[in-house]
Amino acid sequence: MSPEATARFVRALSDIVGKAHVFTDPDMTARYVIDWTGRWHGGTTAVVRPGRTEEVVGVMRLCREFGIGVVAQGGNTGLVGGSIPMHGEIVLSSERLDAIEAVDPIARTLAAGAGTTVAEAQTAAQRVGLTFGVDLASRDSATLGGIVATNAGGVRVIKYGDTRAQLLGIEAVTSDGSVLTRWKNFTKDNVGYHLPGLLAGSEGTLAVITKVLMKLHVPPTRTEVMLAGVETIESALALTDALRRAGLTIEAAELMTDDGMTLVLQHRKLRHPLGDSAPYYLLVEASGSPDVATVLLETLEQAGDLVVDATLEHGDRLWEFRESHTESVNAASVTPPVKLDVATPVAELESFIGVLRREIDSVFPSVRLIVFGHLADGNVHVNLLDADPAVAQRITEFVFELVVAHNGSISAEHGVGRSKAPWIHLGRSAVDIDLMKAIRHGVDPAHILNPHILPANSAPPTAVARSSARIPPR
Ligand SMILES: Cc1cc2nc3c(=O)[nH]c(=O)nc-3n(C[C@H](O)[C@H](O)[C@H](O)COP(=O)(O)OP(=O)(O)OC[C@H]3O[C@@H](n4cnc5c(N)ncnc54)[C@H](O)[C@@H]3O)c2cc1C
Repeated sequence: MSPEATARFVRALSDIVGKAHVFTDPDMTARYVIDWTGRWHGGTTAVVRPGRTEEVVGVMRLCREFGIGVVAQGGNTGLVGGSIPMHGEIVLSSERLDAIEAVDPIARTLAAGAGTTVAEAQTAAQRVGLTFGVDLASRDSATLGGIVATNAGGVRVIKYGDTRAQLLGIEAVTSDGSVLTRWKNFTKDNVGYHLPGLLAGSEGTLAVITKVLMKLHVPPTRTEVMLAGVETIESALALTDALRRAGLTIEAAELMTDDGMTLVLQHRKLRHPLGDSAPYYLLVEASGSPDVATVLLETLEQAGDLVVDATLEHGDRLWEFRESHTESVNAASVTPPVKLDVATPVAELESFIGVLRREIDSVFPSVRLIVFGHLADGNVHVNLLDADPAVAQRITEFVFELVVAHNGSISAEHGVGRSKAPWIHLGRSAVDIDLMKAIRHGVDPAHILNPHILPANSAPPTAVARSSARIPPR
């Protein structure tokens, strides 16, 4: 776009949302064009912060008229580079779409703007004695629009399912400025395609989500947290199963390794929570009995040799060891860590991690491997520290091929975004990819919604391609 056209475009944006909510100054846009991992640095024509759905409509119509790409952004905590404009697209930030409109304790639903954070939704639910069923360590920044757009998982999937499973309704603006509203605060509404489900996981490629209607849940009356050191993943799975068979409800079941624990202890200056270290640690939060602690203790006793050492606690302190992993990994790596969120069938997890460890040690000896994740979902976060950017691609490919050999998925919960787009064929068949492209083309024929992520179906709009000259060098 010529400088004159850009100036006209920015003026028109200001007319829609107000001058105070359009940023073009690089100091003001800086935090919107770099991702949480530090891996993706982009550049943008403008950051726009609409405060109402009507303003989103105006912005989308304008972008379509000018052929400008749009990257929707929530808390910018995504780990696959999908929220970063790499080709001069505008950033449409949901920061000001943050009103909690209603919390219905009878229907058990929460209606809120897409920019509401997960932590705010959790607090609003707690105020009426309910619980919000999505929880993740990025809760203070990650938004409801973001968790829907990525179909986020997190630590409560084992009990409540992923975000899609808890999404009842949606309001979203398509690329031509139409407003899609599916809004029924009950589950049984079977009229045609489930469009909210389609938008869940669409990563900003089908529409800009402006409001969401989420299910809430009755919280457990009492929970206890157990941390157990175990020799093998098989033991961790057997212990989780024994707890279930003892009548407990598993609220969360997380896996850590001794390397990861050591990193956290160093970074957070914490003391080891157990008397003896172990190759793996299982963190379980359990409920479902008036005396959860006793059932946990009895089950641990019966587990015998399965467990090296264990401790119980009522409260959140043991969670710190698990939740500090991501920041400890980031702090410890001399290069931006390669972070790969993958899943295998639970029965294949032990073999997958074993082969991965051996092969990384022998083929990439200078790279450190830290694995942790959501055990019961077979979902592990593979973190490769100190990986020279020149070999990052080769390591990624190697890990994904190993995942496929173990019948797994190359993206368990973070989505595809930019970082996994080249390998999407490892996760989906050609027919599947073509169908996704056809849906995308049908919904966004101008191809302006996050045009460079997921399987792109055509060349991006020319204005966007030309504006890529504005990207600062990486
Ligand atoms: C410490 C840490 C822990 C994490 N733990 C987990 C975890 O346990 N499970 C998990 O699944 N993820 C996890 N994540 C990843 C991340 O928090 C999630 O992907 C989250 O859903 C992103 O929300 P966000 O608001 O930050 O979205 P962003 O990062 O801003 O955007 C992510 C994607 O969604 C799109 N998008 C955002 N808002 C909208 C909107 N309103 N309309 C349309 N598209 C939109 C963007 O275009 C982009 O493609 C973690 C991240 C960190 C930093």
